[in-house]
Amino acid sequence: MRKLAAGNWKMNGTLAALEEIRALLADHPAPGCDMLICPPATLLAPMAALTAGSALALGGQDCHARASGAHTGDLSAAMLRDAGAAYVILGHSERRADHGESDADVQAKTLAAWQAGLIAVVCIGETEAERDAGKALEIVGQQLAGSLPEGATAANTVLAYEPVWAIGTGRTPTAGQIGEMHGFMRQSLTARFGATAQEMALLYGGSVKPSNAAPIFAIADVDGALVGGASLKAADFGAIVAAL
Ligand code: PGA
Repeated sequence: MRKLAAGNWKMNGTLAALEEIRALLADHPAPGCDMLICPPATLLAPMAALTAGSALALGGQDCHARASGAHTGDLSAAMLRDAGAAYVILGHSERRADHGESDADVQAKTLAAWQAGLIAVVCIGETEAERDAGKALEIVGQQLAGSLPEGATAANTVLAYEPVWAIGTGRTPTAGQIGEMHGFMRQSLTARFGATAQEMALLYGGSVKPSNAAPIFAIADVDGALVGGASLKAADFGAIVAAL
């Protein structure tokens, strides 16, 4: 399977940040993996103009579950697609925490994303308290079951395992912990969705940076990364792309 290096810019970046995209494409015009940046929605259209025909795909960071209507401040999946997105991140732990998004919400948004022709990057992951209580696999199993609708395939869905305690903290799980979780995810997904789950990209996310990317990518069932802070600079993200 082709691996995926995905960048999540979160609430960072103005037009000046297009310079980083220019630099990234200049350094990695034909990367050995799929390359995705999910900028704030305000940058999708200008970034799409800049990256048309390039190896860089674009994505949104959230979408509404409905196709249109009276939802002030929200964006539909079709709007993201119209602005140049091919992917959308859904159920990121910051949205689950800041906006109270439930597994059911994420499932509805995933369906909306598919209907608009977007690939859903569905995020799951346990908190530190849940891991300390020995419940990491159980929690991730519940999130997987609840966040994915019937019909998930390798073509319409990417999973991102992001332990909440590893996001933006500089801390990462051990290789054993990542391997155990990714193996568990592969097994659960295969039990529910069949053979297509063997080809689904399972990303690891949480404090991935140039210095730890290669050992993380060497872990079985890790098919790439969802990168926050280290995706903002072309040099850092480029180094992660090169490690994949
Ligand atoms: P981080 O964020 O790489 O800054 O830890 C990852 C994410 O939240 O997707």
